[in-house]
Amino acid sequence: MAKKKFSVSFLVCTECKHRNYTIRRRKDKKGTKLQLRKYCKYCRKHTLHKESR
Ligand SMILES: [Zn+2]
Repeated sequence: MAKKKFSVSFLVCTECKHRNYTIRRRKDKKGTKLQLRKYCKYCRKHTLHKESR
């Protein structure tokens, strides 16, 4: 039952390098890196977050 179909990755703030969000994604789309504008509580503003793992 507990097969890992999802990989856990992080959304890292590009300004302070904090891992602010954890996301679960399907593994099938490799090579696509997410870039999202999210609120960073360390920068206290919306910054660009990049996916990393
Ligand atoms: Zn930040």
